[in-house]
Amino acid sequence: MTTATTAFLSAPTVDSVRDTVIEWRRYLHRNPELSFHEKRTSQFVADRLAEFGGMELSRPTPTSVVARLIGPKPGPVLAIRADMDALPIEERNTHEFVSRTPGVMHACGHDGHTSMLLGAAAVLAARRDEIAGEVRFVFQHAEELLPGGGQELVRAGVMDGVDLVIGAHLWLPMPFGQVGVKAGPLMASPDTFRITISGDGGHAAMPHKSVDPVVVAAQVIINLQHIVSRNVDPLAPAVVSVTTLHGGTMHNVIPGSVQLEGTIRTFDPAVRSEIPALMERIIAGVTAAHGARYELSIERGYHAVINDERASDLLRRAVARAVGPQVLVEATACMGGEDFSAYQQTTPGSFFYIGARNEERGIVHPHHHERFDLDERALDYGTRIFVAAALEYVGESRS
Ligand SMILES: [Zn+2]
Ligand SMILES: [Zn+2]
Repeated sequence: MTTATTAFLSAPTVDSVRDTVIEWRRYLHRNPELSFHEKRTSQFVADRLAEFGGMELSRPTPTSVVARLIGPKPGPVLAIRADMDALPIEERNTHEFVSRTPGVMHACGHDGHTSMLLGAAAVLAARRDEIAGEVRFVFQHAEELLPGGGQELVRAGVMDGVDLVIGAHLWLPMPFGQVGVKAGPLMASPDTFRITISGDGGHAAMPHKSVDPVVVAAQVIINLQHIVSRNVDPLAPAVVSVTTLHGGTMHNVIPGSVQLEGTIRTFDPAVRSEIPALMERIIAGVTAAHGARYELSIERGYHAVINDERASDLLRRAVARAVGPQVLVEATACMGGEDFSAYQQTTPGSFFYIGARNEERGIVHPHHHERFDLDERALDYGTRIFVAAALEYVGESRS
């Protein structure tokens, strides 16, 4: 089977679309595409949206799709965002819809995000007459790779006129049967850094004739730990991790230089902008003390995901109405990053988690793992919650 579509249901409802959403997810899972290369994926999405009818479709960038469902009466505009990209990972699952593309895998659940938003679009398109305002379905490319598709879409005007934006992540840290919503900080801004420490290489038996960058790098790594433990307010979350260390070729040669890479994670913009200067002060001091030199470069990543109060309240009510109040939990913030934050720079919004872990079925591997999988019942939650949020926000009979 190369395509997931059967003839589409005539008047889809959240119940009737459920199995089709799973079919779509499996089709996308078999056919993953990397960030900025979501060619077939975006075409698949555009084809489905065209079948539903009643929407204005556009392709703001080569591999993204936006569908505007404009109701017969005026009113507010709600954007709902799904990401579509996969990761450069060789899949090790053995289910029947395993990736057919070597070295590429939907290991973050974006196949699920895309298909559950398609499900919501199908249901809402069939109820267009009830809409006072607009629902804008944003199928975004390249969440996993800087600079991220989100900011490209914002720059292309996708958020123009939007009053509120929502989005979800299928979430393995949470069991299926829970949906986590949280106002305020949810995910951190992930910045990356690269450091080169240069000394003067030579024979390992004559260290006094060289400046050893390995020893200096070791001290730099240790001293960088002072930033989080001694310089940043203990009540402001921060991570500074050196995650790669490369240098040297042989046991009897002192190398000329050593390369380090790592990540900085913060929530507070003030802390975020303070850390590079603290790093540089330490690296400059340590290298100067030992006669070495350095280069430091920092690549700014996504903004932190900070959820709007009102959008989070809308989600809580939608979860309670669509699935039931018993599934609703307060989401736990984490230091992971998400480019949903790009939309929140221009528009109030809330990003939430749909639990997709299932211990009994062995669906326990974390995001970006070669055996990552989802409890597919979570897709139905996503479709229902999106539909309920939209009908409350732009439904004609909204209270
Ligand atoms: Zn991911
Ligand atoms: Zn993701």
